[in-house]
Amino acid sequence: MTGNRTFTMIKPDAVENGHIGAILEKITAAGFKIVAMKYTQLSKRDAEAFYAVHNERPFFGELVAFMTRGPIVSAILEKDNAVDDFRALIGATNPAEAAEGTIRKLFATSIGENAVHGSDSDENAAIEGAFHFAGREVY
Ligand code: GDP
Repeated sequence: MTGNRTFTMIKPDAVENGHIGAILEKITAAGFKIVAMKYTQLSKRDAEAFYAVHNERPFFGELVAFMTRGPIVSAILEKDNAVDDFRALIGATNPAEAAEGTIRKLFATSIGENAVHGSDSDENAAIEGAFHFAGREVY
């Protein structure tokens, strides 16, 4: 059982492909309440900081280039067991391995361009939410 908040981004691929509305519909239909949301674009510095944990991985440069190439939607979501339930809703990192009906199965194109981000722990949900939102932007 995890806490009641998680953090998400609708990534540049899904925004480019016109899936913002469909993804938000899946999120709210699954019982998540949006407590903060913005349409924004990450700078190179933002993306490098947000994904710093991956900076030794071979795909880091590709990840930063992808995440900065266009706007994203970032949001903080509220629901009981938010982190685990949201990871289940989005599916595996690689859409080829994601379960039927999951957001990545429906909208992602590859392991890199996988439509959505979802925090992997309560601790990271809090860090990532604070990275994107000031306290006064969370309702
Ligand atoms: P997540 O928690 O499911 O998002 O997956 P990870 O924390 O392992 O990876 C973070 C993000 O890096 C993923 O969502 C992908 O956008 C990207 N990524 C992961 N693996 C690869 C890869 O092998 N190649 C590329 N290009 N990107 C990857």
